[in-house]
Amino acid sequence: MQRPFVFINSAISADGKISSFLHRQVRISGPEDMARVDALRAGSDAVMVGVGTVLADDPGLRVKSEELSIARLCNGKTENPLRVVADSLARTPPGARVLGPGCLLAVSQSAPAARLAELSDRCEIITCGKERVSLPELMSEIFQRGIKRLMVEGGATLNWSLIECGLVDELYVYMGAMIIGGMNAPTLVDGAGFPSDFPRLKLISAHKVDDGLLLKWSLKKP
Ligand code: NAP
Repeated sequence: MQRPFVFINSAISADGKISSFLHRQVRISGPEDMARVDALRAGSDAVMVGVGTVLADDPGLRVKSEELSIARLCNGKTENPLRVVADSLARTPPGARVLGPGCLLAVSQSAPAARLAELSDRCEIITCGKERVSLPELMSEIFQRGIKRLMVEGGATLNWSLIECGLVDELYVYMGAMIIGGMNAPTLVDGAGFPSDFPRLKLISAHKVDDGLLLKWSLKKP
């Protein structure tokens, strides 16, 4: 299967949480890290999140720096990367910031027609999979549309599914200087978890950013 190069970028606390037990966005990164994330976005063809992140954080997923947006336009690209939401049942609220031109909602065959009708003029909709979005199908579909580099910005459940399917090449993890705690707070990778044969990583780089640590890993091929 042909698919884009896929990397996850996530900010975690020192105890591995990506938000609190309230499942609300926590500002883990500082200004230098946020600029780094913006540059990663600007260098990607598409940015993807799960609907859980849309419901929790309502991210816009657009490039923030005007300079970087202009550079994309000068290179013949769109101002922002394509915004992709994995949303099997089309639960994305019609007022979500991610919607609008340049947004692709990936749904499953189980998405209610009424929800699709409500969202269809706010985004492009593609169907992959019966009950849940099939990530391999989605990857193949977006690759055919010219997406060669995909940035995944969470959350915990989508990260799990992508890693479980063997669809992730690299991982950027910014570890911020804080403890969030809570057994019900989302971590970098949630889902069911691996019982054994844990995916192995190779450390590419580690350095201080703001008052935390930026780690870059690659996933070893099984
Ligand atoms: P998520 O991973 O963003 O979205 C999960 C949802 O995506 C699933 O419940 C599922 O809903 C949908 N989905 C569709 N197809 C899927 C597939 N094949 N595999 C997995 N999911 C699929 O949500 P989350 O785990 O609840 O994480 C959200 C939390 O992460 C929030 O608290 C947010 O603040 C935090 N977050 C933190 C960061 C960070 O860097 N610190 C970044 C992003 C998010 P359906 O079955 O309805 O489709």
